Amino acid sequence: MRYIGRFAPSPTGPLHAGSLVAALASWLDARAHNGQWLVRIEDIDTPRCVKGADQGILEQLAAFGLVTDGEPAWQSQRTHLYENALFHLINKGWVYPCGCSRKEIEGVYVSQGQGIARLSAAIYPGTCRDGLNGKPARAWRLNVQAVMEALHIPQTLQWHDRRMGHQQQDVAREVGDFVLKRADGLWAYQLAVVVDDADQGITHVVRGEDLHDNTARQILLQKALGLPAPIYMHTPLVMGENGEKLSKQNGALALDLRDTLATLNKAAKVLRLNPCETSMEDALYEWTQAWLTSKSLV
Ligand code: GLU
Repeated sequence: MRYIGRFAPSPTGPLHAGSLVAALASWLDARAHNGQWLVRIEDIDTPRCVKGADQGILEQLAAFGLVTDGEPAWQSQRTHLYENALFHLINKGWVYPCGCSRKEIEGVYVSQGQGIARLSAAIYPGTCRDGLNGKPARAWRLNVQAVMEALHIPQTLQWHDRRMGHQQQDVAREVGDFVLKRADGLWAYQLAVVVDDADQGITHVVRGEDLHDNTARQILLQKALGLPAPIYMHTPLVMGENGEKLSKQNGALALDLRDTLATLNKAAKVLRLNPCETSMEDALYEWTQAWLTSKSLV
């Protein structure tokens, strides 16, 4: 079977316990399938990127024995591909420029008497779908309903996750017309990730469960761009001893690099793999053998 997998960290800081689990799982999955494993640095959200974090992540991966096949890619060097994809969608009439500021979007909800806890979670009310009404264009949004209708995609998009099983989302109702190019001129994660996965021939995406909610949007974009959909698997999140959620902000996820085997064993535990006490090489070998029958996949 042809297999190309990838790990796609954002260089916003060093790898942490959560991202190490995703990196290890995607590496093991590629090795267990005799496939290739690529690393792509997702550095398009420049205000969030930390200088030198990309090299730091590559060094950390190497220290854990997670060797990539081929040179890493940097999204910041691939923006012409995102430009082409947007152009394709403009030609199809499936995107529109949006002139709304965050305040204006919020205003629509407030005027309807609805409070919103977090604006980033607000579904775009569609104000600019039929024209800018004289406002200057700020961002580009996908017209979700237009794509669904043109391509006869059922209202509820369904897909299969190798660990989590059957999944579904009504993108129009639950997410709305999402941004592909931001008001600050930066490319949105959703567009870049879809274009790059296809351009790099990625067949299998293995990543953390925190990204699970993006999958339906990405499948929809793949359909709109006429691109193949990879097979998805979302790995468990790192939890504290008593099941509480750990966070990067409180430092709970920082990695201990003094004993890389012990640190890898912790990541393997999240993936329900047995600990290995001899060496990192033995550990990676044993887990690769065990991976396809491991409890993480059933
Ligand atoms: N760059 C994203 C992150 O670090 C991951 C993207 C992906 O795996 O699809 O959260």
